[in-house]
Amino acid sequence: MHRFAAALAGFCLATAGATAVVAAGPATAAPACAVEYRVDQWQTGFTAEITVTNGATAFTSWALTWHYAGNQSVTSAWNATVRQSGTAVTAESLPYNASLPAGGSVSFGLQGTSTGPDPTDFALNGVACGDTAPPSTTLTTPTTPTTPTTSAPPPAGCADAAFCDDFEQQAGSAPAGRWTVGAANCQGTGTVTVDTAVAHSGTRSVKVTGGGGYCNHAFFGTGVPTAGVLYGRFWVRHTTALPAAHVTFMALRDTADGGRDLRAGGQNRALQWNRESDDATLPAQSPAGVAQSVPLPTGTWSCFEFAIDGAAGQLRTWLGSAEVPGLVVDGVPTPDVDQQWLARAWHPAVADLRLGWESYGTDADTLWFDDVAVGSSRIGC
Ligand code: CA
Repeated sequence: MHRFAAALAGFCLATAGATAVVAAGPATAAPACAVEYRVDQWQTGFTAEITVTNGATAFTSWALTWHYAGNQSVTSAWNATVRQSGTAVTAESLPYNASLPAGGSVSFGLQGTSTGPDPTDFALNGVACGDTAPPSTTLTTPTTPTTPTTSAPPPAGCADAAFCDDFEQQAGSAPAGRWTVGAANCQGTGTVTVDTAVAHSGTRSVKVTGGGGYCNHAFFGTGVPTAGVLYGRFWVRHTTALPAAHVTFMALRDTADGGRDLRAGGQNRALQWNRESDDATLPAQSPAGVAQSVPLPTGTWSCFEFAIDGAAGQLRTWLGSAEVPGLVVDGVPTPDVDQQWLARAWHPAVADLRLGWESYGTDADTLWFDDVAVGSSRIGC
């Protein structure tokens, strides 16, 4: 059913199985934004293509928010990072479409389950669409409803990935399928659970509650392709700032280093890599080295990416799509960065990927991981 009454709620309106465009009123009162919400609905789900047209204020990044009046649940999205908490939904720009000039438009899409009235309370960067213009509406002719489909576009960048897991298929309390939960050598209070309260995509992520002290570690892991350059990408959200002492949130078994782990984590409050076999760090933990790394933000989702080229003996790392200069092994020894790392020959052959928490001091953290992917080319955020 079309819900034209929804137009009273604001400037933005859409209808199921049709396209509704709410045009701006007189040019004397430019709206803050206009949203076209185009839905293909079927019995148990929907896809939506959303086009945002900006008002008079240019943005270097954008976030569109709305609420679902029904029990719609977003399960995946493309060309935006979409999060849902209860009925509240936030779609955030990605690096490649973050710039939104005055009068410019940007489109993204999502898939969801269940049904309900289309949203009407859109706000762009906190300003309600239509706040500065009355709802002078011009409706386009409804389009012919398209055939419902249950196949969604893959998450951005996942098309060529060896695997790309959003954990939405995880029905149990612990991650299963490709994932194995475990902790080497000893086991304490660390836990790994599928979480439905916090998610980067959809409604599920994996939550790791890691304690201080080595044996309170906890990981979930899977095998990875062993040929060629290994690219990895995951989203991580954690609670407690990286401590001064050494911690790990990712471990990769290096079969070329006696099966010892190549670890990513933190030390001196910034991201670092560590080699278990000889405790080498990247960057060197000198002040000049640490200054070339970055902290891992708390309370927000961060996109962590890495590339490991075993043949070349090289490593690169990105956080939020930006390369971290202190987390690069480029084969040429650089003081404070990879000079210590390259003190011996290094040609890693990584066989698995484990995410979780391990503290070599007394530092606890609670972390969530989502949208984990590996492949032979860069996956992106
Ligand atoms: Ca998810």
